[in-house]
Amino acid sequence: MRATVMYSAGDVRIENVPDPDVKEPTDAVVRVTRACICGSDLWPYKTLEHSDTGRVMGHEAIGIVEAVGADVRTIKAGDVVVMPFAFSDGTCLFCQDDLQTSCLHGGFFGTVEVAGAQAEAVRVPQADGTLFTLPVGEDDALMPSLLTLSDVMGTGHHAAVVANVGPGKSVAVVGDGAVGLCGVIAAKRLGAEQIILLGRHADRIALAREFGATDIVSERGAEAVERVRELTNGFGAHSVLECVGLDQSTETSIEIARPGGAVGRVGVPQDEAMPGSQTAFSDNITVSGGPAPVRAYIEELLPDVLEGRIEPGRVFDRVIGLDEVPDGYRAMNEREAIKVMVKP
Ligand SMILES: [Zn+2]
Repeated sequence: MRATVMYSAGDVRIENVPDPDVKEPTDAVVRVTRACICGSDLWPYKTLEHSDTGRVMGHEAIGIVEAVGADVRTIKAGDVVVMPFAFSDGTCLFCQDDLQTSCLHGGFFGTVEVAGAQAEAVRVPQADGTLFTLPVGEDDALMPSLLTLSDVMGTGHHAAVVANVGPGKSVAVVGDGAVGLCGVIAAKRLGAEQIILLGRHADRIALAREFGATDIVSERGAEAVERVRELTNGFGAHSVLECVGLDQSTETSIEIARPGGAVGRVGVPQDEAMPGSQTAFSDNITVSGGPAPVRAYIEELLPDVLEGRIEPGRVFDRVIGLDEVPDGYRAMNEREAIKVMVKP
């Protein structure tokens, strides 16, 4: 089959690789009908060290189950399924606590160990715990929004949940990528009264306003902090969604939280140390977050997608075939596209 292989920063190729098959009795093999490129794929795109074997990329997908192992009980061939970016057994103590990204038998797609989904097919470990069967046909019009349940919508929602977003609260969303935009949707969905987006790209800002952002701050650093304070009676926001992962965005997130507020981090941090520690301490700010257990959120978010109350699929502004994936990486890296969908 054909798959997206990244060999080093900037070196993305479409190559023939062996077809995936059922290796463990808990595996499924899924024919990928929709995949996408993630903002987090841009970090290896910028920094990956060369390897001769490369890495099959992609951790978001919808597809049709082609085969299942002998121990798979709830998933069967022919099912239309969404694949969260992490696999999980669904039974261990962390899965029972809805923290599937810490599953004792879990892991992540698109890594050196487990091949990714920017490919014609993907092997899914722990199929029963990982996959979620969708009540729609293969070419349903809602596919773009359903695809976001594999990562960005669940991740934006996670940021909102851990930042304690709720009715009547002020929320600031740091970052105007697909996750930030989904964070705006999540904040509105959870009843936030004021939603301030910190972003600089006109197309993304326009979409954020349609999703429910009430205010836009395009400054950075100290000026951004000042602007958010002005917009929140001088206090800062109750809840801040950090959707970037850089030092500056993390520091800004903590600085714009009001005393006693909370920051939900879902941007993959690019450094060991976390900036803003003194402000977080002196203002009693809760800093929480991490890789989103999106598998836990599908059940809650799916009805809103199926009934059209939320349309996170609008973050996709380009659809490409597998052969165009290298150019899709370039387009996202150069901020020419918000998020790229792949139809293998
Ligand atoms: Zn588990």
